[in-house]
Amino acid sequence: MPGFELFSDLERKEVNDVLDNGVLMRYGFDGMRNGHWKAKELESELTKTFNSKYVQLVSSGTAAVSVALASAGVGAGDEVIMPTFTFVASFEAIIMLGAVPVLVDIDDTLTLDPDAVEEAVTPKTKAVMVVQMCGSMANMDALRSVCDKHNLIFVEDACQAIGGSYKGKPLGSIADVGCFSFDFVKTITCGEGGAVVTNKQDYYSNADHYSDHGHDHIGNDRGAETHPFLGYNFRISELNAAVGLAQVRRLSEFITIQKRNYTIIREALSQVPEVTFRSVPDGGEESYSFLNFFLPNLESARQVSRAFKDNDIDVCWNYYDNNWHYIRKWEHLKDAKSLYPLTLEIKDALRKLKTKDFSKSDHWIGRNISCLIKLSWTEKEVIARAEKMVQLIKEAFKS
Ligand SMILES: *Cc1c(COP(=O)(O)O)cnc(C)c1O
Repeated sequence: MPGFELFSDLERKEVNDVLDNGVLMRYGFDGMRNGHWKAKELESELTKTFNSKYVQLVSSGTAAVSVALASAGVGAGDEVIMPTFTFVASFEAIIMLGAVPVLVDIDDTLTLDPDAVEEAVTPKTKAVMVVQMCGSMANMDALRSVCDKHNLIFVEDACQAIGGSYKGKPLGSIADVGCFSFDFVKTITCGEGGAVVTNKQDYYSNADHYSDHGHDHIGNDRGAETHPFLGYNFRISELNAAVGLAQVRRLSEFITIQKRNYTIIREALSQVPEVTFRSVPDGGEESYSFLNFFLPNLESARQVSRAFKDNDIDVCWNYYDNNWHYIRKWEHLKDAKSLYPLTLEIKDALRKLKTKDFSKSDHWIGRNISCLIKLSWTEKEVIARAEKMVQLIKEAFKS
C-alpha cells in the first residue's frame, strides 16, 4: 500500500482514453465513447481477480459497504454485528440504512472473535460484518458456522486486504457479499472508488440498480428505464475506473513487492524475544499490506511507537488512542452526535457502548503495533528500516 506510489504510463494511458472521448459517465453515451467502457472493463477484470460471478463498482469503499448491506436487504432496526477495530466507515454505513451497529470484541487475529459474535446474536440480528483489517483475516469457517446456525447474512469488508486469501479463496469473495475500497491510500487506488463482490445474482442486480437511482439498466435509453425500487447515486466515474483498471492489472506485481518488504521486516523482528506476531487462521495468506506485531503490554507498545516516531520510522501505529480505527476514541459515535434525528433503537445501542466491556479488544489493540508496508521502498531501504526497528525495540527493553 498505497498503489499511487507506483503510478506509471499505464494509468495515464487509460485516463487519456477517457479524456479523448470526453465521456466521464459510466452509463450511456454509446456513440461518443469510441468503444471505451472503463467501469465495465474494470468490473470484468475484478470478477477474475476475485474469482467471483459479479462485481459492481461504486464511488467509495464506504458506499460499497452501504450498497452491500442494502442489496442484502439490511435496513431499519436490523442489528449488524461488527468489530471494535475497523474504520469508521463500518458504523457509518450501517447507521445510514437505519440499521443498528452492534460492536463486539476482536481476538489475536485483530479481527472479529467468533465467540464474541455468537454471544451477541439476538432475534434482531440480521448480518455479521467481518473486517479483514490490515491485510489479514478472521477465522472465516468459524464465522460462517455462526452465520449459518442463526441464518444471518455474512458481509466481508476486505478494503485493506486485496490480494490476501483464505483456504485458496481471495479475501472479499468468501462471505455472501464482499466490499473493497480503492481510495487514495489503498493497495489498488483510483482516487475514490469501491466495489461490491458477490456470487448471488439477486444481490448483484440490487447493487447495480441501487447504486444508480434504482434504474433497471435495461435497454439503451435511460429515459425509458423503469425503477423497480428506490436508489441513490453511488456511481463511479469513468476517470476513476480508468485509473483502477491500470492498477488492478498490476495487483500481483504490487503483492510481490509488499510480500518482499514485509518478509524482510518480519524476519528481523523475529529475533527480538519480546515481539510476537498477530495470529493468522489456518489456510490464511495475508496481503502483506501491513505487518502487525505485539509487545508485552500497552506501556511498551506506546514506548516503542514513540521511539519509532522520534527516529523517522514512519507509517507505524499503536491504534489504542487512534480515533479513526478503534472504539475507545469514537466519542461522536458513543454520544450519538448526529446532524439529524436517529431512531431510539440506534441511540440506545450507541449509549450502551459507553459501558460495555471491551477489555479483550483493549488487550490486543493496546499491545499492537501496525506498520504499513510501502511499495516504493527499495530492498536496501527496507533492510535499513528493519535493522533500525530492531535496535529501537531492544533499546526500549534495556531501560
Ligand atoms: C478504507 C476503508 C473503508 C472505506 O473506504 P473509502 O473508500 O475510504 O470510503 C472501509 N473499510 C475499511 C476497513 C477501510 O480501510
